[in-house]
Amino acid sequence: MNENIVKRNEKLAQKVIKGLESRNMNGFYAASKEEALQMALKFIPEGSTVTMGGGMSVREIGLFDALKKGNYQFIDRDEYADRREAMLLAYDADIYLASANAMTEDGVMVNIDGGANRVSALAYGPKVVLMIVGMNKICDDVDGAMKRARNVAAPINAQRFGLDTPCSKTGACMNCKSPDTICCQFLITRYSKEKDRINVILVNDDLGF
Ligand code: SF4
Repeated sequence: MNENIVKRNEKLAQKVIKGLESRNMNGFYAASKEEALQMALKFIPEGSTVTMGGGMSVREIGLFDALKKGNYQFIDRDEYADRREAMLLAYDADIYLASANAMTEDGVMVNIDGGANRVSALAYGPKVVLMIVGMNKICDDVDGAMKRARNVAAPINAQRFGLDTPCSKTGACMNCKSPDTICCQFLITRYSKEKDRINVILVNDDLGF
């Protein structure tokens, strides 16, 4: 990454962390993917029940592989014949891992979901949520974050899953009501009622989309 972007991200991350703290959430800064992995592993006690949503960023820092190999009760929904069963187990997990589709400079998170298992678990259920967020997800305000989620994250995810949506073909949101749409539920997280429940590691790198 360009060194000027790295410096700008270092400063901006501090602003995001203050914003998170003002919203009863915790923010941490990692200078690299490697540092983010070490921070996340320190955060997750061995033996914990851990699960996650789609979470490209979780995979990109190596956390998914580390948890699968390590001494954790990792619920991998892809290993369950009944995915609903795995998703319901997530609501009682010790730690739920995810990323955000977008986040504002003052710490508000925006997430879009098709099946809603991810946004519902972020909102309530797992005892602790740990988010891995690349600085590429940071936007000026909620409007910008919503636009990013609709026009960047959702079309790329629709293409990734081979869905029959207008954005899969055009790369831009057409505000569809296709049966395949992944834009069913929108979660804006602006405050956490429970202290220390929502934790965000901001990574000075591009992660996910
Ligand atoms: S509303 Fe439809 S077209 Fe827009 S991003 Fe979502 S799935 Fe794609």
